[in-house]
Amino acid sequence: MKEKIQKKFTELFGNEGVFYASAGRINLIGEHTDYNGGYVFPGAIDCGIMAKINPNGTDKVRVFSIDFDEYAEFGLEETDKPEQSWARYIFGVCRETIKRGGKVGGFDAVFAGDVPLGAGLSSSAALESTFAYALNLINNNGFDKMELALIGQSTEHNYCGVKCGIMDQFISIFGKKDSLVRLDCKTMEYKYFPIQLQDYKLVLLDSCVKHELASSAYNKRRESCERVRDAIKKNHPEIECLSDAKRIWLEEVRSSVTEEDIMRAEYVIGEVQRVLDVCDALGRGDMETVGEMMYQTHFGLSRLYEVSCDELDFLNKMARKLDVTGSRVMGGGFGGCTINLVKKDLYKQFVDTTVDEFEARFGHKPKVYDVIISDGARVVD
Ligand code: ADP
Ligand code: MG
Repeated sequence: MKEKIQKKFTELFGNEGVFYASAGRINLIGEHTDYNGGYVFPGAIDCGIMAKINPNGTDKVRVFSIDFDEYAEFGLEETDKPEQSWARYIFGVCRETIKRGGKVGGFDAVFAGDVPLGAGLSSSAALESTFAYALNLINNNGFDKMELALIGQSTEHNYCGVKCGIMDQFISIFGKKDSLVRLDCKTMEYKYFPIQLQDYKLVLLDSCVKHELASSAYNKRRESCERVRDAIKKNHPEIECLSDAKRIWLEEVRSSVTEEDIMRAEYVIGEVQRVLDVCDALGRGDMETVGEMMYQTHFGLSRLYEVSCDELDFLNKMARKLDVTGSRVMGGGFGGCTINLVKKDLYKQFVDTTVDEFEARFGHKPKVYDVIISDGARVVD
């Protein structure tokens, strides 16, 4: 990838410039907890975006996307928004940096990536983080890492039409090799947890489906959570978020919200505790417990939160059947990947059998991505 970028950069812009990179991500556990003020537990992975960037002394950005084989050129004023959707991520990062009082001068860039687009591994955050990180250094803006993550998130909100939480941008900036990071989405406090997989591997199976329901269902889930939180608050005004609530308090509000709302809240409250349990278990090297929590999360997402689908439930059932240590749907649901914690000596059998049986059932093969927990945003030598 680096050589491809180098070659194109030389062809278009000459020899100066520095390489920067950032990463896609997985989330081991902690799903639909972010907007409830709970924990998430992501890690950066070894696929991402790499860019060679050099300031050009003008007020224009000139950038080439190797993967789209397209060139874009734009100014840095709000009215200069480029046509190409990939370029809007870069434009957005420039604008959000400027809005926060940072300086951004014109620059030349060539970039490429190897995060599968739209598979739930957050290629867009990798793109934003690469540029947010690079522009901060190039222009000596001195923003801290959290600010850089927020620049990426606001880019999605204001320039790409995606009202995402902070997890993806957070981890693609903060990610560290062989560590997962537990982020408290209420306080933004975070803690690194080393993950030593030893006899295990993490593997994603991508169902390659995306069911249409996703965004309207997402909004409905959020509303359910808010209703339960507000109902609980009447008895327990000290709570801020649904994630602060205790499971037994759900009994007190059963009559004031729907049965469905209760199921959603039950999932969220359970999930917040499972993140804590997984962190403890990792500390003990107790992968069996980590895996069991992942299965419980899948059950919750499928039966209580109801954001799974046939393809994902099938992948999860195959994992159970083949004695895989842990498996769950990762991401918002209704498609995308399962994340699986599997013993190395079971890996091949699990992947081969599941790919075959999935294809027999659904008519296409799931994709397989091995996960290596790696560094987030960085300068590349
Ligand atoms: P994801 O879940 O992977 O983040 P999104 O739809 O949020 O999916 O973001 C994908 C978009 O990000 C692409 O359509 C493209 O605009 C941009 N993008 C991601 N990776 C690349 C890349 N390698 N080259 C150019 N643009 C990219
Ligand atoms: Mg995205």
